[in-house]
Amino acid sequence: MADEKKIENVIVVGGGPAGYTAALYTARANLEPLVFEGFQWGGQLQNTTDVENYPGYAEGIMGPEMMTQFRAQAERFGTRFVTDDIDRIELSDGGVQRVFLGDEEHLAKTVILAMGAEPRRLGVPGEMELSGRGVSTCGVCDGAFFKGKKVIVVGGGDSAMEDAIFVSKFADDLTIVNRRDELRASQIMQERARERENIAVRTPFVPEEFVAGEDGSLDHVRLRNAETGESEDFAAEGAFVAIGHIPKSEIVADQIDTDEDGYIRTQPSSTKTNLAGVFAVGDVVDRTYRQAVTAAGTGCMGALDAEWYLRDTPPSPEAHWMPGGEPTEVAPKIA
Ligand code: NAP
Repeated sequence: MADEKKIENVIVVGGGPAGYTAALYTARANLEPLVFEGFQWGGQLQNTTDVENYPGYAEGIMGPEMMTQFRAQAERFGTRFVTDDIDRIELSDGGVQRVFLGDEEHLAKTVILAMGAEPRRLGVPGEMELSGRGVSTCGVCDGAFFKGKKVIVVGGGDSAMEDAIFVSKFADDLTIVNRRDELRASQIMQERARERENIAVRTPFVPEEFVAGEDGSLDHVRLRNAETGESEDFAAEGAFVAIGHIPKSEIVADQIDTDEDGYIRTQPSSTKTNLAGVFAVGDVVDRTYRQAVTAAGTGCMGALDAEWYLRDTPPSPEAHWMPGGEPTEVAPKIA
């Protein structure tokens, strides 16, 4: 089968800053990348408003607009996109990489994994049930729905501060709820949050249930004091859960080396994974920085690592790679 189908040079999985930068660099290297960018292409920046810390945009730029430009730049050099979520990958150590979209199989000599991360959930009753009816994981997406309301933001990191600052522009009364007295967020973000008159901080509390009112939307949150164990009901029409992220590595987790939290392990100062020909970039690797600019930087690294791998790796017997040769059958062109 494998030698009858086109074998791509590079398949990129993921459509955030890391994936699009990997696509841009591999496209400019004439590797004709195929990008599975996901149904909700653009990654987490699709849910962001102003991006003020991406170098080169002196006046700032909106997250979705920035991702549109990233994508267009990669497209300009011949990147092909599939705007869908893949169903399965079969990774190989140095052989043919197989990516499945339904029954459709795509083969490649290299894969760059750039699936990103997603918001962490509390895992308490009502959280999922009231999602979209008061409970949200994205302040910038949903904050405007809470004009004049009383809301909480759960978490003590920079994401929670960012959400709180944004949502407090709409909500009348906002309380940051954190499980420890000490907040993890950077000093500047804490100060910005504390400066706002309608933001209060309540610690050490964790939500143990989100409870609906008669109209089916959030009415109050049952908070548990993390030290005394005592519970209390806290009235809130909105709750933003901002307690960190989980790397989106499930699709490869049992095939590739990851750490205990699911972040794909790469070699130091490299995007190489434990599998030859498989590279990992962006937030699916990065538990520390998680910035658009760092994701883009590692996307570039992944592209160069893939390019050097293709240059230096002898043809695989499994793949029947022909240096400079053409595949015997070309897979249908993807829009
Ligand atoms: P984070 O720094 O890991 O903070 C997560 C917060 O949620 C912590 O306060 C944590 O409490 C709490 N938490 C985790 N699991 C919880 C649970 N099950 N129940 C209750 N609370 C829980 O995550 P983040 O805020 O998303 O930030 C991630 C990275 O992105 C950081 O490096 C951050 O600096 C960066 N970031 C930067 C900006 C910015 O500069 N504008 C904005 C957003 C994010 P503990 O402290 O007790 O663990």
